This record gives sequence, structure tokens and C-alpha cells, in this order.
Amino acid sequence: MVLNRNLSLPPGYPARDASTYAGFRAALAESRCILCPLSLARTRIVVDRGAPGARLMAVGEAPGAEEDRTGQAFVGRSGRLLDEMLEEAGLDPDRDVLIANVVKCRPPRNRPPLAEEANRCLPFLRRQIELLRPRILLLLGATPVRYLLAGEKPAPLGKRIGRFFRRPDYPGMDLMVLFHPAYILRNRRRKPEVVRHLQKVRQRLAEVLREGIALN
Ligand code: URA
Repeated sequence: MVLNRNLSLPPGYPARDASTYAGFRAALAESRCILCPLSLARTRIVVDRGAPGARLMAVGEAPGAEEDRTGQAFVGRSGRLLDEMLEEAGLDPDRDVLIANVVKCRPPRNRPPLAEEANRCLPFLRRQIELLRPRILLLLGATPVRYLLAGEKPAPLGKRIGRFFRRPDYPGMDLMVLFHPAYILRNRRRKPEVVRHLQKVRQRLAEVLREGIALN
């Protein structure tokens, strides 16, 4: 899906003409997107949080109440836990990672997005990935797996967790699936596992950054 095909947003999509991440971000955040019914109840369009220059990108499911209020991704309880786990693994949430979601508007009562909603919104996420060109892409839980690895035979989530893998649709990127932080809020004993996986991510990120410097 990503860099090797023309991923321009279809006609009618806000932020369609933006060619830089900053331009895309601003245009989408300020738009009055009404591509799906989630727009009816939202307060803010939640594009992301973190560092637009990061080589590491994490993708969650959908904004919750705090995100809808502030316009920032992962700032509620799940987000605070995510930051805590990133920091315990030696990653700086403000500097090392850009965090986004499959859908940009809050679903009612925080239910998972419906397929029509996710599919409507997906071109925005694809464009984000295309503009950011992360070297490491983390899929937080089942929803980003479902939509970003669509077309694949569904493998049990547990089998993929914590292992780097590659996909032709994401050239040059190492992908990893992690438990969604909301799951860890309910299953605290699994937190050390996630921190260990994130330590692997930190090591890989350090390699990527060294490679980048060597190439320059
Ligand atoms: N907040 C987000 O921004 N995304 C999630 O998936 C959960 C909480």
C-alpha cells in the first residue's frame, strides 16, 4: 500500500493538496471533514501527537474523550501508560515517536470504529505514513492490524506480538505489533513484556539513526 503506489488522497478529501507533513497536519486538523458519521459528534479532529520528524511511528485505534477534547492523540489513561512504557524502555515520547490512529474522530462511547468509518478515514493514515516515511511502524492492538495489514490471512494477534516483520506494501519499514495500552491497563502484569518489546524497538531505532548518519 504505502510508498510504491500513488497514495494521493481521493477527490473531496481535506488536506489533499498538502505535500509536507506539517501542511497535511494543519490542513486536516483545521478541516471540517464530514466523510463519515463520526464527524457529527466530534469536538476536534485528532491527527497525531509527538515528533513529525521521528523515524518511529505508532498507530492506535481511535481518539477517546481526552483526545477529542484536546486534539492530541493518546493523552488519556492509555496514552499516559503508553508514555510511561516508552520512557521505561528509554524512548522519549515527545522526541522519538509520532503517534496516530486509524480514525481521527472519536467513536461514540469509545467503541471500535466500524469498517465503513475506518475505511473512509484510512487514506489519511496512509498519507501520514507516506509523508513521514517512518523506519519502524508499531501497530497497537487489533484495529491497526486489521486495517493496515488488510488483505493478509489473519494470523492470531499473539503470534505477531513483539516481533519485527516486513511487508512488501511497507518498503523499508520494520513493523511490529504490540498490545494496545488499554489492554495493558486491564492486564497490568503484561506491562513488563511490552517494555521489553519497546526496548527492542529502541535498539532498532538507534541502529536506524546510526545508518542515517552514516549515509549522510
Ligand atoms: N487514545 C488514542 O488516541 N488512541 C487509542 O487507540 C486509544 C486512546
